[in-house]
Amino acid sequence: MSSDRMEHGKVTWMRSSQYKNDLAVYKSVRKPGHVYKFFRKRDREYCCCRCRELGKWRSIIIVNDAVIGRKNPEEDHHEECVPVDENAVKAQEVDRDMRQEVRSNGKRPREAYNEMLTTVAKKYKSSEEQVNANEAFIKAIYMA
Ligand SMILES: [Zn+2]
Repeated sequence: MSSDRMEHGKVTWMRSSQYKNDLAVYKSVRKPGHVYKFFRKRDREYCCCRCRELGKWRSIIIVNDAVIGRKNPEEDHHEECVPVDENAVKAQEVDRDMRQEVRSNGKRPREAYNEMLTTVAKKYKSSEEQVNANEAFIKAIYMA
C-alpha cells in the first residue's frame, strides 16, 4: 500500500437537517470521546463542518467508510476548530429523530421520549454509554 492510500480509521454516518447528504463522523484519537464532522463536497471528498464555518476548507477523502490519504484527518484544521463531544453529537441526532417523529406521526412528546429511550438502548452497547447519552440528551433538551 503506497503512502497516499494510508488508512486513518473508519467513519460513522449521521443524518443532518443542515446538509443534504449524511455527515461523516470521525472519532478523534488524540481527544478520546470527541469527534470531527465532515460534510460531502463532491464524490469522495468531505470537508470539516466546523472549519467551513470558520472559513477554511479542510477536506478528507473517504473510501468504503475509511479515511485515506497522506495527511492525518486531525491535522491542519482551523486553529479554532476542535473536535466536539461525541455524546452531544449523539444527543443532537436522537433529539432530531424525536422531533421528526412528533411532527410526522403527531406523537405526543412523552410517547416519543419513551420511544427515544428504547432507541438509545438499542443504539449503545454499554449501559455506561447509554447513561451518558441520556444525560447529554436531557441537557440538550432543557438547555436548548
Ligand atoms: Zn476542522
